Amino acid sequence: MEADFCSLTDTEELQSFITHSERTKTLFEEIRASISSNVEGERSFWRPVLPWGGVFSIRAGRRAIASTPLYVEISLKNTCTIDGFLMLLYVILRDNHSFAREVALFLGKRFVQHFLYLMDSCDYTTVKMLWIWDRMSKRQYRSEIHHAALEIDLFGNEHENFTKNLENLMSTVQESWCSNWSCPSRFQEHLLKTICIRPPHEFPDKGLIQRSLDEFFCPRLQLCQELQCEGLREFSTRLFCHGPPPFVILNMQMWSSEELELSYLPYHLELSQQRYSLEGATLFSRDDHHYSAVFQMDGCWLHYDGLRTDNLVLLREPPALLLLSSLVYIRNTHK
Ligand SMILES: [Zn+2]
Repeated sequence: MEADFCSLTDTEELQSFITHSERTKTLFEEIRASISSNVEGERSFWRPVLPWGGVFSIRAGRRAIASTPLYVEISLKNTCTIDGFLMLLYVILRDNHSFAREVALFLGKRFVQHFLYLMDSCDYTTVKMLWIWDRMSKRQYRSEIHHAALEIDLFGNEHENFTKNLENLMSTVQESWCSNWSCPSRFQEHLLKTICIRPPHEFPDKGLIQRSLDEFFCPRLQLCQELQCEGLREFSTRLFCHGPPPFVILNMQMWSSEELELSYLPYHLELSQQRYSLEGATLFSRDDHHYSAVFQMDGCWLHYDGLRTDNLVLLREPPALLLLSSLVYIRNTHK
C-alpha cells in the first residue's frame, strides 16, 4: 500500500500502523532465506526489490479537499542515482543491528525507523520519497508538473544525490600550518564530508586502495598554495570529526582510467585505527548512464539493478566489466 504524504511526518500515526501490521520476516531475512535455499537453482530473488522509478499517489487529506490540488501523483525518473545506495544502506542496517543507533545520530531516529519499516513493507516508492524529501535539497533534482503529476527527475551523479546527503557521518578534518611566518593564512582547517580517493602517486608496496586511503588520511608536507608564499605546509593526520563511522563510502570516480575489478579489491582495510570489511559497491555503466549495486550476504554476491525485471540476482562470482562508482566498507564489530 502507498502511504500518503501526511503520514510521513506523523510519527504517532506511523507507530500505531507499525504495531497493527504484523510482519513475520524482514525483507532482509527473506533475501537471506532465498540465498540459502536457492544457491544451486533459481538465481534471482522472486520479488521485485526497489524497481527503477516509481509513482507515488497523494491521497487528499481533509485539509486538501477545500483547495484544488496542483497534482495528485508524483512520478519518479532516473532513480538509479539513489536506488543502489538505498539497497546497500538497508542491507548494512539490517545486517548490523548496532549500526542503526549510530546512523540515527546523523540522519535522525525517525528517519532510520521509517526507512527500515518502508523497506520491510516493500513500499519502495515511499522509501525513495522519504529520501528525496527528508535528505535531498530541492536544488539536487529537477521537478516539473505534467498534467496532474509532479515529475521528479533524479538524473545525475549518485554521490551528489546520495553520499553528500549523509550529514556528517563521514566528515573528516585535517589541519595544516605553513612554515612561513608571513604566510597570509598560516593555520588552515580542511573539512570534507565525503571520502574521495585517487590512485596513489607512487607504485604501492601494498594494495592500491589501502595506499590511496593512507594518502587521504596521513600527514604530509607540500608547498604552500597561498599567493606569494613560498613556505612549506605541514598537514596533520586527517581525523573523523565524530569518530570512525559504522560504514564508509569511498568515491572511486577518480579511478575511471583504471580497470578495477571487484575480484581484485581488498576485503579488509585499515582506517582510522579500525578494521573495515568490504560490504558492497556501486557500479556505473557509462553507455546508458546507469548505476547498479552489488553487495555480499553470507559470503554470496548479489547484484541489484532496478531496471532489470529480476532486480536482485545471485552471482556465482564477483561481477566484472562495469566501472566502479564507489566502494562500501563496514566497520568490524567484535560480536
Ligand atoms: Zn604559506
